[in-house]
This record gives sequence, C-alpha cells and structure tokens, in this order.
Amino acid sequence: MRIGVIAIQGDVSEHVDALARALEERGRPADIVTIKHKGIVPQCDALVLPGGESTTLGRLLIREGIADEIRQMHRSGKPIMGTCAGLILLASEGDEQVRKTHQHLLGIMDTKVNRNAFGRQRESFETELGLPFLDSPYNAVFIRAPGIVECGDGVKVLARIDDMVVAAEQGNLLALAFHPELTRDSRVHQYFLDKLF
Ligand code: GLN
Repeated sequence: MRIGVIAIQGDVSEHVDALARALEERGRPADIVTIKHKGIVPQCDALVLPGGESTTLGRLLIREGIADEIRQMHRSGKPIMGTCAGLILLASEGDEQVRKTHQHLLGIMDTKVNRNAFGRQRESFETELGLPFLDSPYNAVFIRAPGIVECGDGVKVLARIDDMVVAAEQGNLLALAFHPELTRDSRVHQYFLDKLF
C-alpha cells in the first residue's frame, strides 16, 4: 500500500508524521510518499491534500498536471482526504468570494465552500468537536478555516460549527476544515486509513 501526500505547499511533514503514527496504531504497514510532480498519484492507494493557501495550491496542481490525476484517482474510488485548503480544493463550487478570485477547484465533491468561513474574530481557534466515528470529542485546530455552506444529497455531514459544515464525507472523500495533523491524536487519520484497509 502507498499513501501520497501532496507536497506542493503547506503542512506536509505533519501529515506524514500523523499518517505514520496512525499506521503504527492500526498495526498496518504502508509507504508514505510526498508528491510534487505528475506521475506519482496514479501509483498511490490513498491521498492527502493538506492545508496551505488554496489559490496557490490549485494553480500549481493544474500547472504540474496533478489535478487531472487526482480526478482520475477519485473516479477509481480510492480514499482522498482534504484538510483545510484541501477541503476547498475538493469542492465543486465556491461562494462569491471564491468565484471572484478565479480559484481553481478539483470539483470532485458535491459541496459549496466559503474560503474563510470564520472571519477575523475567530481566525484561529481550537474546539472540542464531536465526530460520529469517534467515541469521545476531538480537539480540532482551526486556522483561517474554510467551511462548507451547501452540500449535495450524497454528502454526509459529520460536524458543524454554527451553520457551517466543518467535516463531511462523500463516498471515498473526507473533507475537514480543521487540521488533524497538528495534534498528537491520530484518530482522524486512523479513520481515514480504515477506508483503505
Ligand atoms: N483559508 C485558507 C485558504 O483560502 C486555507 C487555510 C488553511 O489551509 N490553513 O486557502
């Protein structure tokens, strides 16, 4: 098994470490590879799209020819997790602000996103989030977090803050507005890996 982490920008090494811990805790071996260029995504069995800056990430994914490989991977049903900026990139649609900036989206999840859903007062915060696949709350770290403002019928909402969806899944796709790679608790990565094994 091979798990890819898109390594164009953002918190890549934190995701690699979190995946390694989650694999150890699940007692499963797998290779973890970082991806900067075309040609590696098709060799992966699962993929992580980290946080960062979604405009830059989207532009570079297209320029490097990786965006189409991710769309193809999605069509083949392999698990893909997008965190923070990754949640934005998975979306099929952006709100007005996203559209104005001509943001490139992968368009593979039936969601409409707000890039900076929590405004200035709450730029960064931590909160105990209930997630239906965990038996106790998860300390979720939000940094200039996006949110999902609308979901299609096939999307399962996993968590909300106020009227904003902050965790959702659709088939093989898992989208999180927070940063599970920034805490020692690897239960979210374990849940993602369970889609693979
Ligand atoms: N809001 C940021 C964006 O638009 C994402 C922030 C993050 O990934 N920490 O790209």
